[in-house]
Amino acid sequence: MSIYDLVVAGGRVVDPASGVDAVADVGISGGRVAAVGTGLRGTRVVDARGRVVAPGFVDLHSHCDDIPGMRLQAFDGVTTALELEVGMYPVSAAYERAALTGRPINYGFATSWGAARLQVVGGVKATGMLSDVFTAMNVPAWQRAAEPALVEQVIALVEEDLADGALGVGIPVGYAPSIAPEEYVRIAAAAARAGRPTYTHARELVEQDPDTPIDGAEEIVRAAGETGAHMHYCHVNSTSGRHLDRVHATVSRALAAGAPVTTEAYPYGSGWTGIGAAFLAPDVLHRRGLTPSSIQHLASGRRMADAAELERMRAEHGADPAFVHFLDESDPGAQDLIRKAMLFGDTAVASDAGDPVWRSGTKDPMAWPLSADAVAHPRTAGTYGRTLRLLVRETGALSLTEAIRRCTVLPADIAASGVPALARKGRLQPGADADVVVFDPDTVTDNATYTDTTRPTTGFDHVLVGGEAVVRDGELVPDALPGRPVRA
Ligand SMILES: [Zn+2]
Repeated sequence: MSIYDLVVAGGRVVDPASGVDAVADVGISGGRVAAVGTGLRGTRVVDARGRVVAPGFVDLHSHCDDIPGMRLQAFDGVTTALELEVGMYPVSAAYERAALTGRPINYGFATSWGAARLQVVGGVKATGMLSDVFTAMNVPAWQRAAEPALVEQVIALVEEDLADGALGVGIPVGYAPSIAPEEYVRIAAAAARAGRPTYTHARELVEQDPDTPIDGAEEIVRAAGETGAHMHYCHVNSTSGRHLDRVHATVSRALAAGAPVTTEAYPYGSGWTGIGAAFLAPDVLHRRGLTPSSIQHLASGRRMADAAELERMRAEHGADPAFVHFLDESDPGAQDLIRKAMLFGDTAVASDAGDPVWRSGTKDPMAWPLSADAVAHPRTAGTYGRTLRLLVRETGALSLTEAIRRCTVLPADIAASGVPALARKGRLQPGADADVVVFDPDTVTDNATYTDTTRPTTGFDHVLVGGEAVVRDGELVPDALPGRPVRA
């Protein structure tokens, strides 16, 4: 009889991919799931009785690129965090940096149309960091409509990166909303040729900006229909706001026609981005029903008093993160919209997490727990705990199995085109990577709020990445950095 390296024993194993929902043991050897059954014997045993044992969660939308943010995500059940929406260019630099310092959870990157365009059109060398695009948010040079020869150069860089293992193409077109629609279609076509998905932060909807070169939702589904590229529509909740029903109708029409379009959402009414973003300019805020006080500077906690203050902050601190309160979470109508965005069709749960910012400007990446000085959008620490609390336990809107599916095999499959490594994620079957979470469905809860922003989720007793514990008995394993690259 086999003796496994580790056995997670006696829990309720829920694996939506295989349909298994039964009390069983999970045997792990060599970083992979080796067996699911009863009476398994292991060199080490984790007691999971009375708990749910599920595949580790796969986050399609994480901007976390450092240890503290990824630890917050691990406490929230995430074992694989992928930077796909903005992406990184060149991806090799991003993978090298992550491997050098180590990561607590698995990581992977799409290439970045935005950063490649910043380099070619804006003349700023891209370094493979998120800050490339963030610090250029209020720099119009790279956001202008570009002549065809320059667009060709951007596409060439993107194609090089796809050949170098990028997971897809991040198209944050919402941050350069006046580019020609043709350029967007050409990028999608390049992704289709490489057999990889694209990930879009949509530009404005016509309801928000009648002068937009093309409706943001229409653009995504049209590119899918015209090029055959798999177009993933990022955070439909935040870019649709109160026009969610219309956006869903646009997506449904495309799906009915067989276009490869997928969606994701997070369970919050506020976003988080650089305060210099084009769509936060004082003269366009009203289109989204926002006012300067809807914008809250993260590090200082200050809501902008008026257009003048917002303008000054954008000019002087354009890359500083800010909350964008696009829905009031205390309003029942807003709660309905958030729920609707999460429940639509095959919408994956995805956090849009980002690394905390230290108010004092100094941080020790290995320090834990995080100091009160570390601030982030609460979705970094709480998206998945909040989903399980709100949508499963408190409202019953989703069964536990369906919620787990939307956090595991659904996102893994969305990102899997051209990325065989993802076929081993989001599953608890022999041969799958041993990314496993053990949690208490009766108590699991988010704890991060807009005022206590980085308080970790509780209820995940064990979080294993490649068979190695990052969270054990609800506590961080301080030196554990078992994260591995996911690369095409
Ligand atoms: Zn975004």
